[in-house]
Amino acid sequence: MMIATTNPATGTVEREFTPHTDAQVDLAIAKSVVAFEALKDTTIAQRAEWMNKVADLLESDALVFGRLMTLEMGKPLSQAVGEAKKCATACRYYADNAEAIMADETVDTEKTKSFRRILPLGPVLAVMPWNYPFWQVIRFAAPALMAGNTGLLKHASNVPQCALALEELFTRAGFPDGAFQTLLIGGSKVEAILRDPRVRAATLTGSEPAGASVASICGDEIKPTLLELGGSDAFIVMPSADMDAAVSVGLDSRTKNNGQSCIAAKRFIVHADVYDNFRDAMKTAMEALIIGDPMEDDTNIGPLVNEDAVKDLTHQVENALSQGARRVTGAEAIDQDGAWFRPGIIEGVTEGMDAYSQELFGPVAMLFKVDDLDAAITLANDSSFGLGSAIFTQDKAEIERAFTEIEAGGTFVNTMTASDPRLPFGGIKRSGYGRELAREGLLAFCNVKTCVVA
Ligand code: NAP
Repeated sequence: MMIATTNPATGTVEREFTPHTDAQVDLAIAKSVVAFEALKDTTIAQRAEWMNKVADLLESDALVFGRLMTLEMGKPLSQAVGEAKKCATACRYYADNAEAIMADETVDTEKTKSFRRILPLGPVLAVMPWNYPFWQVIRFAAPALMAGNTGLLKHASNVPQCALALEELFTRAGFPDGAFQTLLIGGSKVEAILRDPRVRAATLTGSEPAGASVASICGDEIKPTLLELGGSDAFIVMPSADMDAAVSVGLDSRTKNNGQSCIAAKRFIVHADVYDNFRDAMKTAMEALIIGDPMEDDTNIGPLVNEDAVKDLTHQVENALSQGARRVTGAEAIDQDGAWFRPGIIEGVTEGMDAYSQELFGPVAMLFKVDDLDAAITLANDSSFGLGSAIFTQDKAEIERAFTEIEAGGTFVNTMTASDPRLPFGGIKRSGYGRELAREGLLAFCNVKTCVVA
């Protein structure tokens, strides 16, 4: 795949990059090892000072970084600037909390002393997607570097300028040379890096095939991996729900980031008593969204990431319609230069249709009608994915059941599924394994060492 910035709003190739050679990659790994030796011996306080500086830069240059994200993948600029600022909160969270997370923890045994000590592993390879080009990287890099590891980033091939800006960010903040490096390489170059004994662990956020490939190579090499893959999150609406909130949050969840979020609400499972109201209000709200230049302030929806994404999503929708689903509104390509797609809603998707079990990675909501919570939870769980989930209800018993019975890495009640540096994030089933963020996100790239004195 070409490593290039192609503006999805116009389809114009803005800049092309020469991929790194094997020799350059080898040198980067060597530098990563040297930087690891230096970084692991620095104090956590020193690393926190650098990480806070990363946060300062993310805040002060949020508009610059935001413009890069919007240029390369098309999200509305206001959301891109928000992403840069959110990254700063994750950096500050780990700067403030790494000391406590990594502190020795004594365990009472019959020995003189028994305790856990948290130690870094070494160079970690991160294979990352384009949809949140800064956030996905920072949520790996902030905990990994605070723990004393070093990072090697293989970013998606369509966001090279974001990838290079991230490398520069850590260098400007004062981290040792080589502590965080960007490799401009395609996916075919990943295997050799995973098999390199100097690289100690890997994390991948992206599609199932990419995750399966990285995990199987790492399995062969006996290396820890963390996988954040796709999702088809359920968004359940029960009769007691605040309907205005359910509609506005549901719409936001489905269309934010131009509908290209792993934790977007993708399957709206609505109780029959409120189904028609919900569908009609959602249709009105969806049709009112402003589709346009993502650099403009009032734009709600920009282009999809590229023309292939438009083709793929259009094919999924057309296929569902041909198999018996119905179009409520939109959900179709817009015929103009660039990667434009009108957000929309389809209903009547049933078991056996392809869309029933697929992830729709774009702004198309699938609506399902159910008669009770049992049916809602059964439908929610009838998916190979298990990333996030949400339920809108005022009923305490329903809330408790949702927390326990929905098969997902998270359940959010009367609010949207979202990541937060203070809370663990990840999935089950084919959405991946391991947890990012919070305490778990730091421990993911550490050796929890057992220490015992007789
Ligand atoms: P993708 O094609 O899997 O790309 C993700 C990254 O993996 C890119 O850097 C890509 O490089 C690389 N890659 C692709 N195939 C590879 C292989 N065989 N070996 C090694 N690396 C490989 O994913 P995408 O389509 O861009 O992203 C969308 C998917 O990511 C959706 O399914 C979405 O739900 C998921 N996602 C999940 C989360 C989460 O936290 N769970 C977050 C965001 C997105 P190239 O660009 O060079 O191909």
